[in-house]
Amino acid sequence: MTLEIQNISQTWDVIVVGGGTAGAIAGIASARAGAKTLVVEALGSLGGSGTNAQVTPLMRNVSSGQNLNRGITDELKQRLIARCDGAIDRNNNDNWFNPEGMKFVLERMLIESGGEILYHTHFVASELENKKISSIVVHNKDGLSRLRAHTFIDATGDADVSVSAGVPFDAGDAEGVHQSMSLRFILGGVDLEKLCGFLTQHGQAQESQKFMHFWMVWEKNSTLEPLFRQAVSDGVLLERDGDYFQGFSIPGMPGCISFNCPRLDADLNDGASAWTLSRAQVDGKLAIDRLLNFCRKYLTGCEHSFITSYAPMVGVRETRRIRGQYMLTLEDILECKKFEDAICRNHYPVDIHTPRGKKLVHERTGAYPYFQPDAFHEIPYRSLIPLEIENLLVPGRCASATFEAQSAIRVQQNCHSMGEAAGLAAAWCSKDKIGVREVSVLELRKALIAQGANL
Ligand SMILES: Cc1cc2nc3c(=O)[nH]c(=O)nc-3n(C[C@H](O)[C@H](O)[C@H](O)COP(=O)(O)OP(=O)(O)OC[C@H]3O[C@@H](n4cnc5c(N)ncnc54)[C@H](O)[C@@H]3O)c2cc1C
Repeated sequence: MTLEIQNISQTWDVIVVGGGTAGAIAGIASARAGAKTLVVEALGSLGGSGTNAQVTPLMRNVSSGQNLNRGITDELKQRLIARCDGAIDRNNNDNWFNPEGMKFVLERMLIESGGEILYHTHFVASELENKKISSIVVHNKDGLSRLRAHTFIDATGDADVSVSAGVPFDAGDAEGVHQSMSLRFILGGVDLEKLCGFLTQHGQAQESQKFMHFWMVWEKNSTLEPLFRQAVSDGVLLERDGDYFQGFSIPGMPGCISFNCPRLDADLNDGASAWTLSRAQVDGKLAIDRLLNFCRKYLTGCEHSFITSYAPMVGVRETRRIRGQYMLTLEDILECKKFEDAICRNHYPVDIHTPRGKKLVHERTGAYPYFQPDAFHEIPYRSLIPLEIENLLVPGRCASATFEAQSAIRVQQNCHSMGEAAGLAAAWCSKDKIGVREVSVLELRKALIAQGANL
């Protein structure tokens, strides 16, 4: 049997593969810049890790108390807040959001911008002509189809399009071990008032039921550690269940807590393998069952709680990172390097969740310029430009960075900013019939600043 590939006669200016954290914003930016834009997404909603892996809230990224990611991110936050799917706490932290609300708002923003979405569709392969991607092959209920565009954006998080096009890449640390993966879940039926009181009694006072954050990691002086020790000795938890435990309240979801755990079995760290992701879903659900029992038995307020949802997507922190025109390094971060083609500013720290038993310790204080409260480093446009290919941009967690540098820039708001720059640049490429290396970085920065970017 030969496989038929259906040629779709329509062509697009820009095709974004992966409608996740970076891809949804890239699609919005591209469509707003006038490009005929299609977002191809494997699942049935936008937002990727932020929605379907339930990664809430956005990690704060500030310098001197000012948000470093603005532009479309600001608009997204405002729309979420207007729907009560977002909120601002007493510390002026505006990063709290409801992942379900985020799905709706991103979809509306893309559609209102004139972008199109092809859901439930998997990228299969890139087809090349003279160092350019001429088309991509995708698979969905209609079978295999060939889609054409002038410029492509690889926002798959795993660099799927780039790898298929022959772009060189790195994956994992020096030994190829990736950051730990987690399967997040939401617990419903929680009496938040009682839980707040209980946490306050146990040394983790909360601002209010609306803004809750509590945690336990072995040997990090968490006041909840004795409870975990007890639960392990009672046979309710396994030792590994205390490697990382963290809960957050969710705007617009009273009685619910979103858990940034469990961390998955150490061997399950390659999020670019479907077999590993499948085992991760199974391992994660068993661990969630242990955590559910733990919460019901040991955390006052959770006695009648239940699982509201298991995240449909495994939480993947790092897989493949493209080799680009510029590879961001740990030194760039610690020395606060600035670039003429900067498209994003970051002050989030190096944050490596390692499956090697202990969290890798990276200095958070010391003499490096990065540890000053007004510090930041920049991400250059060249980190989104893959080697070899002329009409592809790669924003998000698979942009060009070393293992250590990726752990700092991977947080959602930086992915937004990278996506916004990639979307705008790709739209210009198709309008002016140029390659991604020919974009005027001066004009790109000007336009991003005009859209509200903090650059
Ligand atoms: C457990 C965990 C906790 C985290 N905690 C925080 C936090 O608290 N705050 C924070 O800001 N950041 C946090 N992060 C980091 C952040 O969430 C991610 O780095 C970021 O969301 C990645 O964005 P992305 O656009 O690169 O990828 P994603 O958001 O994952 O988007 C990739 C998209 O591409 C789609 N896709 C993939 N392959 C294909 C294909 N072949 N065909 C079609 N579609 C495809 C996926 O379905 C997905 O929608 C955390 C990450 C994890 C895993």
